[in-house]
Amino acid sequence: MGRGFTTRQVHDRARLHGATPRATPIHLTAGFEFDEYGAAAAHFGAGEGYAYTRIGNPTVETVESSLAALEGGSQALLLASGQAATTVALLSLAAAGEHIVVSTHIYEGTRGLIRDNLSRFGITATFVDEIGDPAAWEAAIRPETRALFAESISNASNRILDIPAVAAVAHRHGLPLVIDNTFATPYLLRPIEHGADVVVHSASKFLAGHGNVLGGAIVDSGTFDAARSGALFPHLVEPGRGGAPSIAERVGGDARIAYARESVAPRLGPTPSPLNAFFIGQGIETLSLRVDRQSRGALAVAQWLQTRPEVASVDYAGLASHPDHTLAADLLPDGFGSVFTFTLRGDAETARRVVEALETFTHMTHLGDVRSLVLHPATTSHVALNAEERAALGVFDGTLRVSIGIEDVVDLIDDLEQAFVAAGIRRAADVALVPLVTDAAVLGA
Ligand SMILES: *Cc1c(COP(=O)(O)O)cnc(C)c1O
Repeated sequence: MGRGFTTRQVHDRARLHGATPRATPIHLTAGFEFDEYGAAAAHFGAGEGYAYTRIGNPTVETVESSLAALEGGSQALLLASGQAATTVALLSLAAAGEHIVVSTHIYEGTRGLIRDNLSRFGITATFVDEIGDPAAWEAAIRPETRALFAESISNASNRILDIPAVAAVAHRHGLPLVIDNTFATPYLLRPIEHGADVVVHSASKFLAGHGNVLGGAIVDSGTFDAARSGALFPHLVEPGRGGAPSIAERVGGDARIAYARESVAPRLGPTPSPLNAFFIGQGIETLSLRVDRQSRGALAVAQWLQTRPEVASVDYAGLASHPDHTLAADLLPDGFGSVFTFTLRGDAETARRVVEALETFTHMTHLGDVRSLVLHPATTSHVALNAEERAALGVFDGTLRVSIGIEDVVDLIDDLEQAFVAAGIRRAADVALVPLVTDAAVLGA
């Protein structure tokens, strides 16, 4: 279908049977009546129809179909949170005694899941620091490896993954590349188009977009190859109980996501509320509009910060000074996202004074909201790491993470500037050197 991304984000969704309301109805119900006696057995046998919301719900499936379409995947599975999406995706691939290869540059919740929880399930991990070097990924792969995992745009220092190069390494070994695409969203980057096999999201962030609900999603490319990779994933290719056909025989390339939907998500139970699914679906309808504006605003704020003498460094992939800028310009032609860090000249106390003085930016641990947010990673998200580990991730005492919202960009810059004054760090003599940024200039309006 040749329609544009923004057209598809409001039109690509499954039609419901019967009445066709323009907005997605909220099927807020634990379960569904069986219309006739045989429908119960048909559901439990062949999976027909709806029975119980943990197994399937029309509101949830509507959002799944639009996410799959926008990511260029075959199917999507909506879950209760981003953590649930990563957990279900990885447990659908790896079992006790097996291993995953993971980028060091990931969300701290994911690092905790892998280090503290999956390890207790007997799934071990090797972390790759030099994520730009395909040989480093290759060297970490073992016979028992079952997946490679990374973020498209990484948390903290905005590292960009060379998805085609790492996917090529994974595929040489018959393995899937799993990408957390939360920071980029499918509007800016569709990892499956670049060779990734599985995409996960925290839908709590840009997809829902308004800071109101939690959600997560898995999108699968639908290209599981039983002949090539079946020996690594016996749970997908071996006959079911009583000699039933294997999942791969039943659904072919969709075996991974079918296993996640049928055997992992409903058993572990991180089911999304249909009400939350509705809000995520609503958010998706304006995704491109928000992310486009947020990306432009972030670039303008990052460019301004880069000119400020109070600021030691700005880690935004949209700036030519970022080590991954060339790769970013290649993979992210429509914008570089809106979450990044910058490091103040000063210590944790300097950072505290700036955060306390900010008025338009909200101090909280979230991102992807329509409102701009700020957080001090060293004392919050990254507090479990030691100083050396934090430094390797670009997190120092003076580092702040911002998530740029849809506000007028002049207001955001004014807010940062007045916070520098209030914190007692602004160097007044430099003000005249700062170009006057206007919304019209930045947004091309
Ligand atoms: C927030 C986030 C998660 C976890 O998602 P939740 O919805 O909070 O469970 C995972 N990955 C990234 C990159 C995130 O920003």
